[in-house]
Amino acid sequence: MKKNNPYYSRTEKDSLKLTPEEWKNVLPDNLYYIARQKGTERPWSSPIEKIKDTGIYYCAACGNALFTSDTKFESGCGWPSFYEPVSKESIIYTPDNTHGMKRVEVQCGRCEAHLGHVFEDGPPPTGLRYCINGVVLDFEKAEEARKQYEDKDNQA
Ligand SMILES: [Zn+2]
Repeated sequence: MKKNNPYYSRTEKDSLKLTPEEWKNVLPDNLYYIARQKGTERPWSSPIEKIKDTGIYYCAACGNALFTSDTKFESGCGWPSFYEPVSKESIIYTPDNTHGMKRVEVQCGRCEAHLGHVFEDGPPPTGLRYCINGVVLDFEKAEEARKQYEDKDNQA
C-alpha cells in the first residue's frame, strides 16, 4: 500500500515543490486523490477517526507534524477532527468557495497537500474544528514518537 516515498521526512522543514507527476509516482492512489486533487474520503471510512491513543499525526505525503492527540475530539462529523494544529507553520489556510460554500481549506505547511477544511464550530479553547481526511494523516503513538526524538537527539 505504501509506495517508496523519498520526500517523506519527519525532520526536514523545507517546503516541497513537486510536479503532479512526481507526486503520482510516490503516493498511493487514494492519498494522491485527496492530497493533490483535493478529494474527500467517505465519512466514517477512516480508522484514524476512532484512534484515542496518545501520539502525533503527521502529513502522510511528506511527514510534516500536523496535530497531536490532545487536540483531537469527537465531532460526530465522520472525519478526524482537531481543534488546533501543532504550530502556526504546520498549516496553510486558503479560502475555498467551491460547491457554493464559503469555506477555509487547510493544507500541509510543508508540501501543500489538501488536508480538509476548518470550521468555526469547534470546542474551546480555540472554537475551531479542523475536519481532516484520515487518508492524509499518519499516526504514531507517543512511545514510538518519543523513541524517534531520542534517536534524533543521539545523532545530533
Ligand atoms: Zn505534507
